[in-house]
Amino acid sequence: MDGVGNQVAHGAEAQALNVVMLGPPGAGKGTQAQRLASGHGLPKISTGDILREAVQAGTEMGLAARVTMEAGNLIGDDVMIGIVTERLDRPDARVGFVLDGFPRTVVQAAALDGMVDGRGPLVVLDIVVPEDVLVRRLATRRICSKCGVNAVVEWTGNCQACGGTLVARIDDGVEIVRERLKVFLRQTKPLVDYYSTRSTFRSIDGNQPPDVVTAKIKSALDEAARSATL
Ligand SMILES: [Zn+2]
Repeated sequence: MDGVGNQVAHGAEAQALNVVMLGPPGAGKGTQAQRLASGHGLPKISTGDILREAVQAGTEMGLAARVTMEAGNLIGDDVMIGIVTERLDRPDARVGFVLDGFPRTVVQAAALDGMVDGRGPLVVLDIVVPEDVLVRRLATRRICSKCGVNAVVEWTGNCQACGGTLVARIDDGVEIVRERLKVFLRQTKPLVDYYSTRSTFRSIDGNQPPDVVTAKIKSALDEAARSATL
């Protein structure tokens, strides 16, 4: 990754940029995490991706995850923490990372604090979108019939990644979407509480066009990183 050399070249002052993105499904978290990561030359680490990778690579934690999933169980804190630890130990994460989907619990958050200890501040960005807007977004979500990517609201024609046709996602009804969101918000509330009093925590208004959100994230990040070094 090109950004690695550049960041190190800034000298001893260079500080790792460790970012956690919080936010419910439909908040645009994945898109923003991707933009942030490529803009700063950081690896975007999403738990779905690294779970698949670890299982494929057959690491100790990957094998544990596979056994759990094959038994039809949810991946517990220990395995999730193990897999993220393995991932953050890789050289490309030394300059920082953008985490998407981890931590999900306070236990995981406390473990993450241990992992980044001595590696620079941890900036936490919480993308907030009103529940009704989320429900509407999730219920009207479109995907590419060819490559499966989630369509961004602005895409009017075909998929901008591969040119494929956009189709409505076969999804659950509004009531099920609403219920799933409520469960998510209830489960992640302790996590937001865990972080919200820190000087490096920023709440971002995600009910705006994606480019505006990206700009807000950029200034929030600069501000949070500055407050961490004071
Ligand atoms: Zn496509």
